[in-house]
Amino acid sequence: MDLNQFITIVPDWPKPGISFKDISSLMENGEAYRYATDQIVEYAKDKQIDIVVGPEARGFIIGCPVAYSLGVGFAPVRKEGKLPRETIKVEYGLEYGKDVLTMHKDVIKPGQRVLITDDLLATGGTIEATIKLVEELGGVVAGIAFLIDLTYLEGRSKLEGYDVLTLMSY
Ligand code: AMP
Repeated sequence: MDLNQFITIVPDWPKPGISFKDISSLMENGEAYRYATDQIVEYAKDKQIDIVVGPEARGFIIGCPVAYSLGVGFAPVRKEGKLPRETIKVEYGLEYGKDVLTMHKDVIKPGQRVLITDDLLATGGTIEATIKLVEELGGVVAGIAFLIDLTYLEGRSKLEGYDVLTLMSY
């Protein structure tokens, strides 16, 4: 199946100059959503994954059906102040300023094998911060899966040495 046909490209959104790749039109199509999920499950199924981890909010949309299909749990990575139990946090740079991502401290046991999921790899800042959280808890990043890689932003350069799957690239 050619998944590209289900991505809606919205020019100049959320601000001028950004070409937004909208995955919600893919999710709205049951066959396409299942196909994309199955591709990631196929990639992950021999990696002895213990848990799937994804950053809010679109990382949940990709990661949860994959976790369900693999028969493992899912742990959310969220902005500061959203998770109720004890958390660890990491700061990461944005174009202007900084942001913080957090994760529940007790969610990964040292040595557990983790699949990280997100909708799209842009600059790689979000996924780099997610990797830091997982590794700080002693998790092993066994794979990272995205629907889309915006290759022109070179986020892949931040993921050298990791096993990465992307289903589409621009
Ligand atoms: P980054 O940290 O730069 O890799 O991007 C983080 C997140 O921002 C991605 O996971 C997407 O959810 C979102 N994002 C960034 N750029 C785009 C884009 N051009 N189209 C759609 N989503 C984007």
